[in-house]
Amino acid sequence: MKKWPVKMNERSPEDRAGDFKEVVAGYTPEEALLEASRCLQCRDARCVAGCPVGINIRDFIGAIVRKDFAQACAIIWEKNNFPSICGRVCPAENQCRKACVLTKKGAAFASLEAININFLERFAGDRALSSRPSRVSVSDEDLSRFRVAVVGSGPAGLCCAGELARRGVRVVVFEGLHKPGGVLRYGIPSFRLPQDVVDREISALEDLGVVFRLNTLVGKTLTIEDLFRDGFSSVFLGLGAGTPSFLGIPGESLGNVYSANEFLTRVNLMGAHLFPEYHTPVNVGRRIVVIGGGNTAMDAARVALRLQRGNGISVDVTVLYRRTMEEMPARRLEIEHARQEGVRFEFLTSPTRFLGGTDGSLQSLECLRCRLGEPDARGRRRPQEIPGSVFVLDFDQAIVAIGLTANQVLVRATPGLEVNSNLDITVDPHTMRTSLQGVYAGGDVVGGEGTVIEAMGMAKKAAGSILKCLESLP
Ligand SMILES: Cc1cc2nc3c(=O)[nH]c(=O)nc-3n(C[C@H](O)[C@H](O)[C@H](O)COP(=O)(O)OP(=O)(O)OC[C@H]3O[C@@H](n4cnc5c(N)ncnc54)[C@H](O)[C@@H]3O)c2cc1C
Ligand code: SF4
Repeated sequence: MKKWPVKMNERSPEDRAGDFKEVVAGYTPEEALLEASRCLQCRDARCVAGCPVGINIRDFIGAIVRKDFAQACAIIWEKNNFPSICGRVCPAENQCRKACVLTKKGAAFASLEAININFLERFAGDRALSSRPSRVSVSDEDLSRFRVAVVGSGPAGLCCAGELARRGVRVVVFEGLHKPGGVLRYGIPSFRLPQDVVDREISALEDLGVVFRLNTLVGKTLTIEDLFRDGFSSVFLGLGAGTPSFLGIPGESLGNVYSANEFLTRVNLMGAHLFPEYHTPVNVGRRIVVIGGGNTAMDAARVALRLQRGNGISVDVTVLYRRTMEEMPARRLEIEHARQEGVRFEFLTSPTRFLGGTDGSLQSLECLRCRLGEPDARGRRRPQEIPGSVFVLDFDQAIVAIGLTANQVLVRATPGLEVNSNLDITVDPHTMRTSLQGVYAGGDVVGGEGTVIEAMGMAKKAAGSILKCLESLP
C-alpha cells in the first residue's frame, strides 16, 4: 500500500500575513503515527549520519509508531536538548531528510518522499514540553565541585550549558542582552518559532540548576581573566555572529536603510511592532526591498510585510538576490511561505547605489542585472554583473541581509585569544579548545554563520572536552 507523506497544517497566507502567530501547526498524534509508520526502520539508518548531532532517528520514530511518545523524546534528548526548537527551524532538507533512504527512492516514486523527520521531532518535543516531565539528569556528585562559565545564550551556549548541567556541573550563562536565546530570541520571528517554546526550553535548563546572568557583556563588564579569578574552572564562548555586513555602496547611510539584524532585533527583542506600548520604534515603508537570499532575508521580508498588513496598510515587499532561486541559502519552506504571503523576488539583480530624496531618506535603488558565472568555493555559481544593464527601482525602505560576522568586543579584550582571517575564533576541531588554556568555543563564532543544529553540535563537542578535563582534575 502506498503511503503518502503527511503534510503539516498551515494557516492560510491571507489569515497569517498580518500577525505574528505561528504559521505551521504541529502534527496531531494521528498524523504523527501515520507519518512515522512510513519509516522503513532501516538497519543502516542513513538519516542518523545526516544529523549534525547524531540523533537516533530510526529509534525515536520507532517509539512514535509504538505510541511511546515519552520514550521518543527521551531518545532525542540523548543527543539534542531542544527538539521543539530544532523541529521548527532545522534545514532538514539539507541534513537528515536529504540522507533518508526514501529521498533517493522518492525520485522514482513520488509517494516515497523522505520521512518528515523534523515534523516528527517537533511532535515529540512539543508533547514533552506540554506535559513537562523532569528531564533525564545524569547528575555526578564529583562534578558538582566545578563551576563553568558559558558566554552567550544562543543555541551553542544553551546546548553547552545543558550538557554540563545534566552531569551536575554548576553552570552560569553570561548574556549581553536582557533576554536569553541569542538568534532564537532576537532573529527568528515568533511566527516561525514562538517565544514560549524558547522560554520553556530555557526554564528547563534553569530546572537543571543553570543560572543566567543577563545584561552582562563579557569583554566589557567582565573579562575572561575575571571569570577564572572568580573560581570558574573552564569558559565556553558561544558568542555567535552578531555583526551585520554591509554592501559598501553609496547611499547606505540614508534614512530607512536598515541592517536586517537591527530591523529584526527591534521587532523580535524590543517589541517595536507594539510601539508605543514598548519603547522602541521602527520605521516601516510601503515599498520595501530586502537584499539577500538567506533565512535572515526571508525573516526580514515577512516581518516587514506583517508590520504593515497587521495595521491594514498595503505594502510591497521585494527580495533582491544576485543569483537565482536555486542558489538561495534560505530554507525552501521559508521561501515558499514568503512567496505565498505575497513577497516578490527579483533574481539576478545586484544593487549598486541607494538614491535619496531631499529629506535624506531612501527613494530608489540603482541596480545592475547579473548572469551566473563559474561556481565559487562553496559550489554556488558566482553572479557576474552585466555592464550597461543599469536600471532603477523605487523603494522607500531597504533592509540589508547579506551576512553576519563575529562581534570582536570580547576578542579585543582578551590577549592571546586567536582568530582567523574571517575574525572567527580559532579552535582545535577535535576538542573545540581555543588558543587559551581552559577556554573553549563553538557555534557561529567559530564556524561563521551556520545553523542552529550545527552550533549545538560544536557546543556538545566542547562540553565533552570540558567534562573530560574536569574529570581528570584531582
Ligand atoms: C534571522 C536569522 C534567522 C535564522 N534562521 C535559521 C533557521 O531557520 N534555521 C537554522 O538552523 N538557523 C537559522 N539561523 C542561524 C542560526 O540562528 C545560528 O546559526 C545560531 O543561532 C548560532 O548560534 P550561536 O549560539 O553560535 O549564536 P547566537 O544565536 O548568535 O547567540 C550568541 C549570543 O551571544 C551573546 N553574546 C555575544 N557576545 C557576547 C559577550 N561578549 N558577552 C555576553 N554575551 C555575548 C549574544 O548577545 C547572543 O545572545 C538564522 C539566523 C538569523 C540571524
Ligand atoms: S533513513 Fe529514512 S526510512 Fe530509514 S530509518 Fe531513517 S528516516 Fe526511516
